[in-house]
Amino acid sequence: MNKVSDNPVYFVLSTYNTRMKFATKAVHAGVHPDPLTGAVMTPIYQTSTYAQVSPGVHKGYEYSRTHNPTRTQLQDQLAALEEGMHGLCFSSGMAAIDTVIKLLSPGDEVIASNDLYGGTYRLFSKVYTDFGITFHYVDMTDPELVKAKINKNTKLIYTETPTNPMLSVTDIAAMAAIAHSAGALLAVDNTFATPYLQKPITMGADIVIHSLTKYMGGHSDVVMGALIVNNTELKDRLAFIQNSCGATPGPQDCFLVLRGIKTLHLRMERHCHNARIIADWLMNHPKVGHVYYLGLPHHPGHTIAASQMKDFGGMISFILKGDDYAQAIKVMESFKLFTLAESLGGVESLVTHPASMTHAAVPAAERIKSGLTDTLIRLSVGVEDVDDLIEDLAQAIG
Ligand SMILES: *Cc1c(COP(=O)(O)O)cnc(C)c1O
Repeated sequence: MNKVSDNPVYFVLSTYNTRMKFATKAVHAGVHPDPLTGAVMTPIYQTSTYAQVSPGVHKGYEYSRTHNPTRTQLQDQLAALEEGMHGLCFSSGMAAIDTVIKLLSPGDEVIASNDLYGGTYRLFSKVYTDFGITFHYVDMTDPELVKAKINKNTKLIYTETPTNPMLSVTDIAAMAAIAHSAGALLAVDNTFATPYLQKPITMGADIVIHSLTKYMGGHSDVVMGALIVNNTELKDRLAFIQNSCGATPGPQDCFLVLRGIKTLHLRMERHCHNARIIADWLMNHPKVGHVYYLGLPHHPGHTIAASQMKDFGGMISFILKGDDYAQAIKVMESFKLFTLAESLGGVESLVTHPASMTHAAVPAAERIKSGLTDTLIRLSVGVEDVDDLIEDLAQAIG
């Protein structure tokens, strides 16, 4: 069965076949030779507007905030990879999340994970609380705690799995059942896993969220976000907000993400491979106290992760023995190959101090409740040779 692009006139039949395996979809889905020239790679349609033959008579494109052909190919690609019907792209991951919350009205309530990306927590607590939306922050590893917060105003359950940086895991199918029995939507931020490792829509999620800035783009050269849904009515509501509020990406950024996705499966395999070896190495290091990595059987999320993910991802957090702040800072300053920086998911390895960097917007009391101490060190393991990464860790930890 061939999928015809969502957009009315412009695209001929896509080469994408829904039965294709993931690696084939990563290279081909949603992407087809340019109908005008035959260009094999998606052209960057650097245009804001489109000629009409008569008022209102056009090829499906009127203005690039609303639709742009480079963006359309990326949106179709994302929908295919997540096994949803529709993709929508935004100028950042936060703009995508913002669009989800704009589905709500004053008085509505959200049950959100207590271990969210810092920027998401900031958006909810510092922006949307003032708009009359109530957020309940709950430990999503326990579905009973979520059930306890459900009431007639609950419109959305919002989770991230695995989380950043504690790697706690939400049982997506269980959460979808709770959301749907309450008449609420389930939104899952799939940034850490990517559809290579986990497809929330196949487990009942209504909205999948991505910061494409991370693994999907994969090269730390673009900031972008996306939503993927499996319901046309919901897509229409989100697309209306996307077009009305206008946080849409430019075609050049869409091109970069399309290019990044072509190697998503290869990169993810190597991220997972390297992370597994590094996690084992850290576990055996005499100066390392605790290692948070989903592939380790002692991780509380291990069993559910093993059941809903293909592999355990490229993220590791750890704490040194003695839990000493000055020593943790010194280690982070000592890396030569790992770069000390925010963000994650690029080909290069990064080290982050979540308490002062990615999660500075989360109050200390909230952070510590979820285990995110000032001594926690987070690694985004890249695709370099793992021997070189271990050599760098060895000299940094000392
Ligand atoms: C980075 C990130 C975001 C925000 O995305 P931006 O592209 O930086 O706006 C949201 N969720 C998670 C899990 C992230 O890592």
